[in-house]
Amino acid sequence: MSVVIRSKNPFQSLILPFKTTPYWWETVEPLKVDNKEIPNQMDVAIVGSGYTGLWASIILKEQGVDVHVFEAKELGYGASTRNAGFVGAGYKLGVSKLFKIFGKDRAVELFNISLKAREDIEETIRKENIDCGFVVPGHLVVAWKPVHLANLEKTAELLEKYFSLKTRLLDKSSLSACMETALYHGGLFLPEGALLNPARYYQGVLALAIKKGVDFHPQTEVQQIEQKGGKFEVTFSGNKRTLAREVLMATNGYTSSSFPEIQRRIIPLPSTIVLTEPIDKNLLEKLVHTKSAVYDTKNFLYYFRFLDDGKLLFGGRTQLNFKSSIIDASKELRRSISMVFPALKEIKIWNVWEGKVGFTFDHLPHYGRLLNGIHYCLGYCGHGVALSSYLGKLTAYYLLNDPRGQSSLLTLPFKKEFFYTAHPWFLPMVGLWYRLKDILF
Ligand SMILES: Cc1cc2nc3c(=O)[nH]c(=O)nc-3n(C[C@H](O)[C@H](O)[C@H](O)COP(=O)(O)OP(=O)(O)OC[C@H]3O[C@@H](n4cnc5c(N)ncnc54)[C@H](O)[C@@H]3O)c2cc1C
Repeated sequence: MSVVIRSKNPFQSLILPFKTTPYWWETVEPLKVDNKEIPNQMDVAIVGSGYTGLWASIILKEQGVDVHVFEAKELGYGASTRNAGFVGAGYKLGVSKLFKIFGKDRAVELFNISLKAREDIEETIRKENIDCGFVVPGHLVVAWKPVHLANLEKTAELLEKYFSLKTRLLDKSSLSACMETALYHGGLFLPEGALLNPARYYQGVLALAIKKGVDFHPQTEVQQIEQKGGKFEVTFSGNKRTLAREVLMATNGYTSSSFPEIQRRIIPLPSTIVLTEPIDKNLLEKLVHTKSAVYDTKNFLYYFRFLDDGKLLFGGRTQLNFKSSIIDASKELRRSISMVFPALKEIKIWNVWEGKVGFTFDHLPHYGRLLNGIHYCLGYCGHGVALSSYLGKLTAYYLLNDPRGQSSLLTLPFKKEFFYTAHPWFLPMVGLWYRLKDILF
């Protein structure tokens, strides 16, 4: 199990003991998609072929719209086939903060959108028969500090009171009945938490979009969008052009500096995942007594799940910039695994990969239309499997002025900050501050 990569020195190659591509890509057969000729005119051009772009394209096509999806790389190259496959309700902005910032009524409205997204993805997977290993074993949020357990208790109260969600709070000893780790101080079990294989879900949705007749253009980077006579002139790599009535940016954490109005509102943060060799069955039985997926309450959080064949998928944020190498990131995650499960300190890593998470300043996703007329739907802050699928659909309706596209997310300002123009120079400092917070409180 080794792969040869080139280091910066072209004469020196490095043998890594792991693959640097997402494990999920090994579990699907890529679909054959015709790269059609780009027509001179179209109704809607969608930039980005992740879950957002796919679902928006499906709804638009169903409404009789001539829609084309443009992707700079291979279809599904971005976070949609790299994520951990956790499917849950809620946002990066936690429930308590949502209530504190927005007050009861708006917080309930906003959280309900995420509940609808969670419900919708399950319904869709079942209705469309998407074979993506969708299961509902629950999510376990584990407390990094004793004070975090008190926050989880507050979350549990709000979820029960306003959304009738029955959760279960675990103290340290109940948690150790679920997992052989002394690192955490308890946790909150969220029964509606689901899991899926993100690349197989992606393929299922892509197959649906192809069946509906959506036109795809992989390896076609959108380089410029200019208003021209009430339409948008879209310029692609290779200097090709088209005129589109509407444009939807579905580029999330992969948004480039060619689109400053979007880019200034989205901060790309790296998240790295490692997949281990299968863990010995007897050892695994000793280590975990739950099928739930787990994530913790740190800023530099860990998230993990065990696959059916005993491999451990373990993810985390190792840096807030893209300067650290994948080797350093894998070493750090390996150390993290042995912190959580000391018995796994010798475990071998088989795959390591990275993806870009699209963060917003308010830790909430946004969709709508910019002053220049361009539509957008992005900013899921690492909670995008259900949200991007659902909000992609809502954005399509919104673009068509269909009332089904309305939601209270539209009332939120999509903030940019004066200090963030082209480059997120502040991330190393924010990273230091978060690390300090993880140590101190
Ligand atoms: C490592 C990792 C783990 C995650 N784990 C989870 C999880 O467990 N649960 C969860 O809910 N969420 C998770 N997320 C977040 C989730 O994957 C994303 O929110 C979701 O996939 C976003 O989908 P999208 O379609 O908006 O964007 P993406 O899937 O990122 O697609 C954007 C696409 O736009 C393309 N693009 C960019 N610029 C251009 C251009 N100029 N022209 C053409 N194409 C362009 C890119 O190449 C890319 O393919 C994770 C993310 C990462 C990175």
